[in-house]
Amino acid sequence: MTSTTHDHPRSHELPPPRTHQLTDRVFAYIQPDGGWWINNTGFVLGEHSVLCIDSCATERRTRAFLAAIDAVRAGRPGARMLVNTHHHGDHTNGNCLLPDATIIGHQRCREGILSTGILRPEGLWETVDWGDLEPAPPFVTFEHRLNLYVDDLLVELHHFGTAAHTTNDVVAWIPEHRILFTGDLVFNGGTPFVLMGSVAGSFVALDAVMELDPEVIVPGHGEVCGPQVIDMAGEYLRFLQTTASEAREAGLTPLEAARSADLGPFAALTHPERLAGNLHRAFAECEGARPGDPIDVLAALGDMVAFNGGRPLTCLA
Ligand SMILES: [Zn+2]
Repeated sequence: MTSTTHDHPRSHELPPPRTHQLTDRVFAYIQPDGGWWINNTGFVLGEHSVLCIDSCATERRTRAFLAAIDAVRAGRPGARMLVNTHHHGDHTNGNCLLPDATIIGHQRCREGILSTGILRPEGLWETVDWGDLEPAPPFVTFEHRLNLYVDDLLVELHHFGTAAHTTNDVVAWIPEHRILFTGDLVFNGGTPFVLMGSVAGSFVALDAVMELDPEVIVPGHGEVCGPQVIDMAGEYLRFLQTTASEAREAGLTPLEAARSADLGPFAALTHPERLAGNLHRAFAECEGARPGDPIDVLAALGDMVAFNGGRPLTCLA
């Protein structure tokens, strides 16, 4: 008998993505299971335009997202805008499949995509069929704030002035409905991931999110939620800082610290291996790094694989 054993489902075994209508014109597009490279997107529909919030990691997933928009849009014409919440490939790889869209993002999101291109991170994550993709960075960029209108509905783009998940996080805030698309500032049910951003800056960004007073949060990964998920993220970040400072005093490496840490309530979050990467950032900040300063990301990703028993990280994209 031939059989393939694996301890998690394959991509085709995941529930299909679903379009989640939040208001008459605002939609979240939720992709289970929200794991590595499986992001959420969204769209705001007008009579004369449509605003997309992020694309997906692969050609197949992005085409499915665009088909979901077309299904709701029912042939209405109009210009397309695409906002990227940050430069990571799970949110931007599919940009090239919207060739007629005005692509908008933070200036450093553009720079990030131009410098990394389409990553094919073999060895770090399980192999993925990425499809036919080419880099398509934002070509309308901003630093702090930008207002977009879909018909007369205001969508505010905010960068909170600090690195957090990355150096270029942008949220899309719809004040009329108190709906916030957070990108990866929030993972609902997943471990926060600040390796390429900042622990200290994440506190600032999460405070700024709370300041907006959202009722509905569409996180970068995981189910639509309310602002209470922010509390768990804050607690995790404090745990991270404490673990880092104690481990440094004890002379441990980030990987040793991750392996010996007691995750406690955070063991319930998915992707515990992020602790090894997050600790690289937390150690650097203990040593005086400012938010977003370059650190050795590849070494940190390697430690995440080591934490994962030396196996590439689960990726069902
Ligand atoms: Zn990300």
